[in-house]
Amino acid sequence: LNLSKIYIHELTGNLHHLMLPTLQQKQIGFENILKEPGLSIEGDGNLLEQVLINLLVNAIEALKDTENPHITLTAGLSGRKAFIKVADNGPGMSRDVMDKIFVPFFTTKKNGSGIGLSLSKQIMLLHHGNIQVQSKEGEGTAFVLQF
Ligand code: ADP
Ligand code: MG
Repeated sequence: LNLSKIYIHELTGNLHHLMLPTLQQKQIGFENILKEPGLSIEGDGNLLEQVLINLLVNAIEALKDTENPHITLTAGLSGRKAFIKVADNGPGMSRDVMDKIFVPFFTTKKNGSGIGLSLSKQIMLLHHGNIQVQSKEGEGTAFVLQF
């Protein structure tokens, strides 16, 4: 773990920049909301970027048949803990699927690897943080990283 002080606005800004061509090509709306200016965390920037890429790619894939597709990236404080939330207005998932998504190699995709979320969870545990999912079928999905 290569820890340093990470400013959330730099992390989310980099990711927005990285994903912008794909978002534009797929006409997916994107909002980057920072509720706490200057918010920073202690973490491994490369690993946390990988976690957020996993979540954003999953959101983009989930939105392929959604009308007015949209992703919202929100960061702020919940109590004294920083959080980053990636929310989409895609199809959501059933209770059954939700129970398995962090299991290594679980996938519902034809060519999925099923490692993105299990790896993301391990990375969050290395940071003494957590990852949680909220999802409602027909409404969308949100993943929340807590630090
Ligand atoms: P993969 O993307 O290769 O399938 P992941 O570990 O990244 O593997 O995701 C596991 C499963 O979680 C996906 O196959 C999908 O069923 C579900 N999932 C993840 N993100 C979303 C999302 N934003 N909306 C709906 N389902 C999702
Ligand atoms: Mg994935």
